[in-house]
Amino acid sequence: MSPEAVLERLHHEGVKFLRLQFCDILGTVKNIEVAQSQFAKALKGEVMFDGSAVQGFTRVEESDMLLRPDLNTFLVFPQFSTLEGERGKVARLICDVYLPDGTPFEGDPRRVLRRQIERAEAMGLSLHCGPEPEFFLFERGERGEGTTRTNDHAGYFDLAPIDRGERIRREITNKLVEMGFEIEGAHHEVAPGQHEIDFGYAPALQTADAISTFKFVVKRVALEYGLLASFLPKPVAGVNGSGMHCHLSLFRDGKNAFDDPAGEYGLSPLATQFVAGLLEHAPGMVAVTNPLVNSYKRLIPGYEAPVNVAWSTSNRSALIRIPAKRGNSTRAEFRMPDPSCNPYLALALILAAGLDGIQEKLEPPPAIQRNIFKMTVREKRHHKIRELPGNLSEAVDALERDEIMVAALGEHLQDHYSAAKRQEWAEYSATVHAWELERYLDLI
Ligand code: GLU
Ligand code: MG
Ligand code: MG
Repeated sequence: MSPEAVLERLHHEGVKFLRLQFCDILGTVKNIEVAQSQFAKALKGEVMFDGSAVQGFTRVEESDMLLRPDLNTFLVFPQFSTLEGERGKVARLICDVYLPDGTPFEGDPRRVLRRQIERAEAMGLSLHCGPEPEFFLFERGERGEGTTRTNDHAGYFDLAPIDRGERIRREITNKLVEMGFEIEGAHHEVAPGQHEIDFGYAPALQTADAISTFKFVVKRVALEYGLLASFLPKPVAGVNGSGMHCHLSLFRDGKNAFDDPAGEYGLSPLATQFVAGLLEHAPGMVAVTNPLVNSYKRLIPGYEAPVNVAWSTSNRSALIRIPAKRGNSTRAEFRMPDPSCNPYLALALILAAGLDGIQEKLEPPPAIQRNIFKMTVREKRHHKIRELPGNLSEAVDALERDEIMVAALGEHLQDHYSAAKRQEWAEYSATVHAWELERYLDLI
């Protein structure tokens, strides 16, 4: 779309406010909303903002930055509530962040992903991703505060009326379809109150944009029903957590480059090298794909979330599973990421790891077809199965040791990212938790 065409649609649809969106290093969506008189200026990429207050954007030199809208991301928001309807229609554009001298800002997460996409393009490749974000719907307390009381007691694939989330899931899906999403399916997940909505696969940048929009829509719709939607990876101990499995494939000249009927498991060397790269760098990227203190409470045995660095063509205990479909649907399901990640940074590191596997012609260890959770320590050692870092602090250490992952983030972003995560860990470590009091207070 040209700027003129977008301007025309803004007027035609009677849009009153235009949101210029971008995100900080932690993936929090930020926006500057402009009124009609500023539309033309916004479309030309002339809206400036002070980056110094945005997490991870602070630079020593100066803080003024420009928002250059990516016109492919234009959409008019559906009406979320009568109140908003009265205020006027709202549209949005996702932006790339530039410095006043016209160069892209290297600390912009979208830029970090674009760099890897350009690297892949130079190799004739493009990454496609179909994400499966999971989330919980919780009740709100009397004063509107969040609780971890789920609004139903249903389980995997259950139907209404046990599944009281069904109506909300449909409402979310309808809104997303109205906004141009291709939704592959939506279902109740294993834990009470837990749901999953799967997207059709799309190029990586589009997927990252879609994930951040998706989270906003889910939270919004839940709010209208008086509920809280949470993407926290492990909100309730003792039941499944929420992951965001990513179905990954590389395309070359419009064809799936992972598919090779002559290869072992029907996979091309490119596919196994990509998998090998993901396995090699999984410990280094986990601080980004699983960014919270809480993320590591999901990555424990017994809840369908991965713990071990291994791949499999059959079972779900591995970090990477190769689903049975071949042809254009040949793909690797990367089960590590969770939905609290910054999707731009996560996909950037996933792509960087896979491309490293291809460039270095890495070979993955043999695929493990047994349930890894049932293996003894000796068996795991025998199969050279490594474990992921056990907590956020170990994960940041692993990131800093992985030169390929650090280079993919870039110096500016990696510095700020590590500092933010170390701070988070320090705060957590300094807190006395309810568990400690319950366990020790009386006893000691
Ligand atoms: N909730 C599980 C996870 O944390 C995944 C369950 C599934 O296979 O969909 O990854
Ligand atoms: Mg699932
Ligand atoms: Mg899955």
